[in-house]
Amino acid sequence: MGQTIFGRIISGEIPADKLLDTDDLIAIRDINPQAPTHVLIIPKKPLAGVSSSTVKDEVLLGRLLGAARELAVQLGLDKVGYRLVINNGESAGQSVPHLHVHLMGGREFSWPPG
Ligand code: AMP
Repeated sequence: MGQTIFGRIISGEIPADKLLDTDDLIAIRDINPQAPTHVLIIPKKPLAGVSSSTVKDEVLLGRLLGAARELAVQLGLDKVGYRLVINNGESAGQSVPHLHVHLMGGREFSWPPG
């Protein structure tokens, strides 16, 4: 897989507003936020999406949600609620083919999402 924009952020080639940088993931503010708080949690492993992950990636997948939980506390969203989204594939709205979890909060969200 070629380098995506997230791969270039992970390597440091492109700057980002980083909230977290661990051995296996980063969290950055979304450049085009869809909510007052909109953070992307991105594994350093360049998986294209959930569909590209395997059973070997399940610890990593869990860490993405764990990071979301911790960030939600840090950002003051845990008490009021927040939305986590993973778009998988273009028809689902995925525009960057590098797995990421959207953490959004600070406004009301409707369901179904449309
Ligand atoms: P998705 O459509 O699920 O693939 O989400 C990709 C997200 O990446 C979108 O919400 C974009 O606004 C965001 N994005 C694209 N480029 C950057 C960037 N350089 N820094 C931060 N967020 C970005």
